[in-house]
Parts: sequence; structure tokens; C-alpha cells
Amino acid sequence: MLMITETLHSQQLAGWQIELARAISRPEELLRCLELPPDVFGQPEISRTGFPLRVTRGFVARMRKGDPEDPLLRQVFPLPSQATTTKDFSLDPVGDLGAQVRPGVLHKYQGRALFIVTGGCAVHCRYCFRQHFPYSSANAGLDRWQGALDYLRHDSSITEIILSGGDPLAITDQRLAALVAELDRIRHLERLRIHTRMPIVLPERIDDRCLAWLGATRLHTVIVVHANHGAEIDEEVSEAMQRLRAIGVILLNQSVLLRGVNDTLPALVDLSGRLVAAGILPYYLHLLDRVQGAAHYDTPRAHAVALMAGLRSRLPGYMVPRCVREQPGVPYKVPIELLED
Ligand SMILES: *Cc1c(COP(=O)(O)O)cnc(C)c1O
Ligand code: SF4
Repeated sequence: MLMITETLHSQQLAGWQIELARAISRPEELLRCLELPPDVFGQPEISRTGFPLRVTRGFVARMRKGDPEDPLLRQVFPLPSQATTTKDFSLDPVGDLGAQVRPGVLHKYQGRALFIVTGGCAVHCRYCFRQHFPYSSANAGLDRWQGALDYLRHDSSITEIILSGGDPLAITDQRLAALVAELDRIRHLERLRIHTRMPIVLPERIDDRCLAWLGATRLHTVIVVHANHGAEIDEEVSEAMQRLRAIGVILLNQSVLLRGVNDTLPALVDLSGRLVAAGILPYYLHLLDRVQGAAHYDTPRAHAVALMAGLRSRLPGYMVPRCVREQPGVPYKVPIELLED
């Protein structure tokens, strides 16, 4: 999501912005890069959702060539079946709109408020629970930060601000630095949490300009990245994590349990191993949020329970993520053990 003025002055663009502008958006191009036949999945579904294919070249480079089952490819390729409407799958599966207290501000849980900073992302994940989110009106970015900041200023029970989206690191460092400087001045805030997939899908994003504002805030900073499969973590990703750790950022990961991507014990054991090797602790393993278009990723709850038992018996406790589902109206993410369906 580059601003017009920035594209006009391309010599001023940061490396990550150039890479973002080069992201692949045509299914035929992606299949060609992977040496797959153009009709391997039938006709790709792009029109219905307004959520087209989007994937960075760096992420594509981690996919196996010639393998239509590749777990990274499966996360981003729009399959024809995604156009079908599935019972029990909705447009707002986690009740985000009901938790909106100001445009783009969600206040669901005690002590934590969440800003939707932008709708932009470097990749479009086909299972994304916010793929139908009305970002153009429900967004605290653009010129709406003052209303969002006022909300925080007036509720001293909020000690943690979560920047989310979309991907909050999709906006410029200039705007992020200005936002975080405002947050710094709200005395009751103690922690800044950033939910971003950028360090995984575009590790160049963690450059000196980004580290400058991250390192300058008085807030304790936690970055929750989002990797679903061990193959997402390569040398460049590990180096980006190293840069974040060097300035004292706490690194956590959240994943979504996805059929055909990471729904096996070896895949999840490998993911935890690679995360910890890169200095990231596994935090959440989300059961799929039942959003329209994502039914083919759904995994039976009993299988998830068995996978969690397998992880517990194979790994040290700190390498086992908490398996949860978000349920509208419940004041915390619900552990799988307490879920009924
Ligand atoms: C998930 C979420 C949080 C954070 O929940 P934690 O359990 O603290 O990770 C906060 N606000 C909203 C709106 C959320 O969806
Ligand atoms: S990066 Fe996150 S917000 Fe963006 S499409 Fe993927 S899951 Fe959704």
C-alpha cells in the first residue's frame, strides 16, 4: 500500500518498499515461478472476495518447485473451492465489529486494546479471519489516530496497546514512529505489542529505520510474528529476528492450524524447533476461525487435541504453543481443552 508520492520518488523508497511493490499478484506468474502447469488447480478464484493473490518473492523462494502440495503455496493460492459458501462459516467469525469502540479500535479483553492500523499486508493468507473486514471504515490509521489515542488516554485500565491490521508494519516508519511517540506519552501504557507477519514474509522490513523507533520507545515491546510452517523460517528471517532481539524485543509466534499445511505432528514439532532456533517462543496455535472461503483448511477438533498431546509428550513445555479458539463474547482466547465442538 504505497502512497502515490512515495512511488513518484522511487529513489527514496526503502528496500522493503521496493520488494513489496514487486510482490506477485497474478496466479499464472506464481505457478510459472514454481514450474507448475497453469491449470494445476483449475481456474483460480480471485473475483468474489476482493482479496486477490498477493505474495512476496522472498516467500515464494522458500516454496518447493513443482510441488502443488507445498505448505507455503497452500497458504496463499486462491483455489476455486474458496468461492463456495459454507454453512457455519461467516464474514466476521470472531465478533470484531461488535468489539469496535472507535473506528479501528477493538477493546475485547481487560487491559489490552487493539488498533487496526491498516488493511494492507505483504501477503494475502487465504485463511485470514479478517479477509472480509471493512478496513476502509474500521481503521485507526489514516487521519483517525487522534480518536483512537483519545480512547486510550481516557481508559487508564489499558496497559497494553496492540498494533494489528492488516499488517501494521505495512505503513511507513515515519508514520509508525509518530504513532509510537504518541503512545509513549500515555503514562498508563506499559507495553507495546505488534502483531505482524512482515519479519517472516519480508524480513527486509526490519531495517535500521524500523529498529530506530522500535528501540526508542519506553514501552516494553513484544512482537508476535506469524509462521505456520518450519519452511517459512530461513536465514534471512533468522537474521531479522536477531536484529530485533539485539534491541531487547520479546519475540513470540502465533500459527493457525491448517489442514494440508501443518496438521501433522512432525510439521508442528519442526515448526517449534525452528522458531526457538530463531529466538522466537511459540505462543498460540489457533484453531481455524470459521471465515467464509477457508473451509478447506478446517481440522477436526479431536485431531487438534491429539496433536497437542503429541506435542506435549515430545517437546519441552516452553516449545508447546497454547491451542486456542477465539469465541465472540468470551473475555479470553479459549483453550482447546475447554471447547465443546
Ligand atoms: C487476540 C486479541 C487480543 C490479545 O489476546 P491475548 O490473549 O492477550 O494474546 C487483544 N485484543 C483483541 C481484540 C484480540 O483479538
Ligand atoms: S498477514 Fe495476517 S492480516 Fe494479513 S492476510 Fe495474512 S493473516 Fe491476514
